[in-house]
Amino acid sequence: AEVYGIRNWGAGYFDVSREGHVVITPFLDNKKVRVSIPKIIKGLRERGLDMPVLLRVENILDSQISLLHHSFRAAMDKVGYKNVFRGVYPIKVNQQEQVIEEITRHGGKYHHGLEAGSKAELIAALAMLRDPEACLICNGYKDEEFIDLGLFARKMGYNIFFVLEMPSELELILERAKALGIEPLLGARMKLAAKAGGHWTESGGDRSIFGLDTAQLVQVVDKLKSENMLSCLRLLHYHLGSQIPNIRDIRTAVLEACRVYCGLVDEGAPMGYLDLGGGLAVDYDGSHTNYVNSRNYTLDEYCADVVEAVMESLDEKGVEHPVIITESGRALVAYYSVLLFNILDTSRFEAAPLPKKLPEDTPTLIENLYIAAKSMSVRNVQESLNDAVYYRDEIRGLFRHGHVTLRQRALAENVFWHMVNQAAVLLRQLKQVPPELEDLEEAIADIYYANMSVFQSVPDSWAIGQVFPIMPVHRLDEMPSRRAILADITCDCDGKIDRFIDPHGVAKVLPVHDLKDNEEYFLGAFLVGAYQETLGDLHNLLGDTNVVSLRIREDGSYDFVREVEGDTVADVLAYVEYNPKKLHTKFRETAEKAVREGRITARERREIMRAFEDGMRGYTYFER
Ligand code: PLP
Repeated sequence: AEVYGIRNWGAGYFDVSREGHVVITPFLDNKKVRVSIPKIIKGLRERGLDMPVLLRVENILDSQISLLHHSFRAAMDKVGYKNVFRGVYPIKVNQQEQVIEEITRHGGKYHHGLEAGSKAELIAALAMLRDPEACLICNGYKDEEFIDLGLFARKMGYNIFFVLEMPSELELILERAKALGIEPLLGARMKLAAKAGGHWTESGGDRSIFGLDTAQLVQVVDKLKSENMLSCLRLLHYHLGSQIPNIRDIRTAVLEACRVYCGLVDEGAPMGYLDLGGGLAVDYDGSHTNYVNSRNYTLDEYCADVVEAVMESLDEKGVEHPVIITESGRALVAYYSVLLFNILDTSRFEAAPLPKKLPEDTPTLIENLYIAAKSMSVRNVQESLNDAVYYRDEIRGLFRHGHVTLRQRALAENVFWHMVNQAAVLLRQLKQVPPELEDLEEAIADIYYANMSVFQSVPDSWAIGQVFPIMPVHRLDEMPSRRAILADITCDCDGKIDRFIDPHGVAKVLPVHDLKDNEEYFLGAFLVGAYQETLGDLHNLLGDTNVVSLRIREDGSYDFVREVEGDTVADVLAYVEYNPKKLHTKFRETAEKAVREGRITARERREIMRAFEDGMRGYTYFER
């Protein structure tokens, strides 16, 4: 557990058992329940589900929803806030039906609503949200069809808000509202001057692409006044960006928004709702700092800061406390999914032992390299490696000019890699590694080939260098003896993971165990529930993975409540416009031609066609 820092980033949902298994540890009926992931994998395998599998633990999602509501309730009770909290889940963070269904089911207890950013999301939200007290927030571009649908939903009793992202939207909304005779609930998205740190900061600040600046807000107010419809303006919204690591940025933004809110109340708008958007971060690396993969606050601190800031600034102006809405998606769903995958093979950068003696005709430079290798110690590592690089490059030059044979060059390269490996071993004895040699471990790391696609399952790891906790899910009662980077099966040079969380920050190699004969080795990528499924793509035609949802009971037993089989090869080919039937016909024609030409027999044709058909029906990942 210490090697991988699981207790730092696991948020109490994951731990390591005495038998060395990663266990899922939800808090049910006032006690911790422990469910072994390797045992879950065994159950999946028995049911015929191949790796990779995306495992969703419904209890974790429920727990995150409850925690958010309880924290806001406690913060409000503590200071005597005179209104309520209403969460809305932004569908974009993970649109899968099972996710929305679970959020609306469990969130129903708290009137948790939904945020839709497009027509498709609105349609999903209208069908999934049955609670008239929950809010449905419509952000994003809205055309006439979108607006009409939203207006009818309002008439049906939905608590649906159109948030104006651009001044031009108002005209169309007012026109349709008049035409249909339905009064909308309107919100305005403001551009904050405040800008936060983190990966996604462009959502905030004056230059953010969405929202109204103060002049545009005033124009909206004037237009509504002139149309005698200011009574529709009920909500102020902003979104500072996702994954805001620093609580100071969150507080600054709330204070700025409260000033604008009071300004709108002064103008005569009824208001009543303040929507703070997303931003609540996930502590992916468990460091509890304001580093991009972390956050320097707890959920309780977030809620307390928001509530206090709203209350203080509104009390100062004598404005009634609004319903506070947040659009946290990442923090709700990140913990809920774990990608489980197996290792298919490894490759090691290990040099053969140094020869006892060099051959008679060995060139002097190779002899020098050999002497440097023999005399390397913990005191002269850096100097010896500098010499080694010099000799290696010179030897390569001689090879190019034909003065060194292939066999001699191979000998030199082996001595060089032997030195690099030895240097890494020596450096592990030091407390402080010289900065020039920090990359040494990475240079000699093994490559573990993982049965998954980075682009499909953890796209942010490739796209923005986000670091997710990744670790073996078993054999944790043995010290890992190897250090590796992971390569996926897309055969793309970017299809690798070479940043890992360790208890001291981010490491370039992952401690792993040696593979055993006849025993599979399984790893998990944790905290991948937010954004990854949606942003994942079909690079190299590796499709959606199998997905299994788990519900754990108080006694530690569990059910696989849902299973969605991953894409077949035929599915992904159809996504890119192939017709699997046509492909079959074409290939059969080629096979028949081969029979005609005597290359294969008719019986062989049958075998080949069977392999083709099995491939079409099969999983896009490596099957056992
Ligand atoms: N609300 C809006 C308008 C967003 O654009 C986003 C995503 O960036 C969110 C909410 C979700 O934010 P978070 O990822 O911080 O939960």
